[in-house]
Amino acid sequence: TLVFESLGERLEGVFKRFRGQGKLTEENVGEGLREVRLALLEADVNFKVVKDFVDRVREKSLGQEVMKSLTPGQQVVKIVHEELVGLLGGSTTELDLRGKTPAGIMMVGLQGSGKTTSAGKIALWLRREKKMKPYLVPADVYRPAAIDQLTKLAGQIGVPVYPSTPDMNPVDICADALSRAREEGCNVILYDTAGRLHIDEPLMEELSRIKDKCAPAEILFVADAMTGQDAVNVAKSFDERLDISGVVLTKMDGDARGGAALSIKSVTGKAVKFVGLGEALSEMEVFHPDRIASRILG
Ligand code: GDP
Repeated sequence: TLVFESLGERLEGVFKRFRGQGKLTEENVGEGLREVRLALLEADVNFKVVKDFVDRVREKSLGQEVMKSLTPGQQVVKIVHEELVGLLGGSTTELDLRGKTPAGIMMVGLQGSGKTTSAGKIALWLRREKKMKPYLVPADVYRPAAIDQLTKLAGQIGVPVYPSTPDMNPVDICADALSRAREEGCNVILYDTAGRLHIDEPLMEELSRIKDKCAPAEILFVADAMTGQDAVNVAKSFDERLDISGVVLTKMDGDARGGAALSIKSVTGKAVKFVGLGEALSEMEVFHPDRIASRILG
């Protein structure tokens, strides 16, 4: 993906400057870290997250932990790599669908973030990769096109879908869909909930009622990577209200700068579980922090 390319280039420039340096000193580390800080801020990473990151890298670089067999440049690359993996969430966090059957996955987020598309993508992924039987539930009755959209996606991937109509109540839809899914022998149910352009109280109230009624195993906040720090702030609000279990970061194929991906775990404490890499249903990947850190550092 393009997302991290310019960040990677900037960091490469920083590391080059350590070449030919005999050892890590307060001076050359300080200089290098000023550049790292700028590179991260330019990538639209949250200000506080950048500060903590730079402080940790400084501490490790000047501490005794560094390996003597590495050159100063290699040492800094190694430390930055480790810290980037940490920023991205550490290890890969999988969906946790243990518990009741069918396991519920509630998709939440602002309108246009990619909820409906991601619901279809995850359903397809669960069927292909986990050999599960998904059931899709259109619960956004305020935007009738959303019902049609999910129903169409369900048809494309051959997954049953609840016959929602715009006059129905979203909480009733979800509750009824749960018993239908069970009757159809499905073991995972995805609720595509309504979004708004901005967070509002009636929406949060409705989501909270769906959560209470259906007790989903996962509540995935869908964040549009293109909106950068706004996505992070909105994630925080949804988490405070609904206690989300993870994040789907969409539109990572675009020219977003990567700030959302690098900040969302630190700010919300919740891991990114999937990334969307295109409009097609197969264009989604599990989020692997170590692989992404390696990609950033080349
Ligand atoms: P919703 O309102 O949250 O349900 O959003 P939609 O699922 O309707 O998605 C909004 C737009 O973003 C649609 O045009 C999707 O095709 C597009 N979209 C969703 N995910 C991705 C992605 O990962 N990459 C790209 N390029 N487009 C996406």
